[in-house]
Amino acid sequence: MTDYDVIVVGGGPAGSMAAHAAASKGLKTIMLEKDRDIGYPVRCGEAVSDEGLRQFMEPRPEWIAATISKIRMRSPNNTEIDFRSPGSGYILHRRIFDYALANRASQAGVEIQTRAYVDGLIIEDDVVCGVHYQYMGEPRSLRAKLVIAADGVESRVGRMAGIRSAIKLRDIESGYQVTVGNIDIDQEMIDFYVGSNWAPGGYLWVFPKGDRMANIGLGVNGTLSKDYNSHDLIHNFLKEQYPQATVLTSVCGGVPIAQTLKRITGNGIMLTGDAARMVNPVSGGGIVSGMHAGKIAGEVSAEALAAGDVSIKGLEEYPKRWRKAGGKNHEALHRISETIYDISDEQLDRIALRLSKTKEQDRTLLKIFTTVAREKPRILLDVTRAFAGL
Ligand SMILES: Cc1cc2nc3c(=O)[nH]c(=O)nc-3n(C[C@H](O)[C@H](O)[C@H](O)COP(=O)(O)OP(=O)(O)OC[C@H]3O[C@@H](n4cnc5c(N)ncnc54)[C@H](O)[C@@H]3O)c2cc1C
Repeated sequence: MTDYDVIVVGGGPAGSMAAHAAASKGLKTIMLEKDRDIGYPVRCGEAVSDEGLRQFMEPRPEWIAATISKIRMRSPNNTEIDFRSPGSGYILHRRIFDYALANRASQAGVEIQTRAYVDGLIIEDDVVCGVHYQYMGEPRSLRAKLVIAADGVESRVGRMAGIRSAIKLRDIESGYQVTVGNIDIDQEMIDFYVGSNWAPGGYLWVFPKGDRMANIGLGVNGTLSKDYNSHDLIHNFLKEQYPQATVLTSVCGGVPIAQTLKRITGNGIMLTGDAARMVNPVSGGGIVSGMHAGKIAGEVSAEALAAGDVSIKGLEEYPKRWRKAGGKNHEALHRISETIYDISDEQLDRIALRLSKTKEQDRTLLKIFTTVAREKPRILLDVTRAFAGL
């Protein structure tokens, strides 16, 4: 006897998309979220491309804090290079956006329970068939034919099912971000700072948030986070660059820039989004990839249940479709990120100087990569693979 067809653990973008897809196919679905509010606290720079979002839905004005048309990058010695954005992008209000995704799922029939912290799995004959959770301190259990773990970067559910999800230190960025008010920046431009003085082994971002606000954050590579304090780096940056800015919120969190897990399914379970390590390893963006994978997981759950097979074999369409949709690119992007990680500050300054001498309209993605390749030739092969989808 099961309570649900599908239990989704985690109410982020991946979880809401998975739940929506499953319920839209007629499955009795519940989504359990440990926090009191869907979408809060926000641990995200909130940047997303218009193209990425539009694959799933028409962007709504109330989700959008700023619309982006320009990109600026600064090298360690502060050489500025301006790029035209290849398409437009947005800085979202994630709180409103995540709410809207969950609301969309609920309108498709998904039950949602917040304050529901999943702390165990029901496993019988090596098949996951439900969850144990705490609801406001009270232990509860639910049975289901399938569990989708969309429980984010700190995911424990995959591990509970025996799926190896540990990340190497080098494959994690330790992120710290403040949302500031009273700041005068171009509200259509995103600004990146690369180099060890700004963000060792990562980058620092300034993303406009509308109404003279901005998200300013950075990621420090996990191997360096013991030696560099993200909090101090951000506050020193603010003191130097934007002394008048006032901190309204601060958040910290890990960004997995790892390859997707080798195994993202088990008997009766699928992992999706950050829990399965699906963040773009170059940009650190995981909203769109999580939405994409969540949608696939929800669709595959309907097919597996219709076929009456929730074993790893019965769920094999999920890793296959994820690989086709973005997983293959993901491997190439991971190699590109490893090459970028090894570029020294001097090399970054040389690359910036060369690019600054080209006309702005000629600063295409291809131009950037060929310029980087003069310092790191091996990047060309991975870039070619990423673009060709090999
Ligand atoms: C500082 C920072 C900046 C970032 N900036 C960007 C950006 O600009 N653009 C971008 O695309 N990406 C960005 N990311 C990454 C992005 O936030 C994630 O990739 C994205 O949120 C992943 O979605 P998800 O649904 O997989 O996980 P999440 O959004 O993390 O959702 C997981 C949910 O599961 C819940 N949960 C966890 N454990 C349990 C449990 N045991 N029981 C019940 N619920 C549970 C959590 O409370 C959470 O709500 C950033 C990340 C960080 C840390």
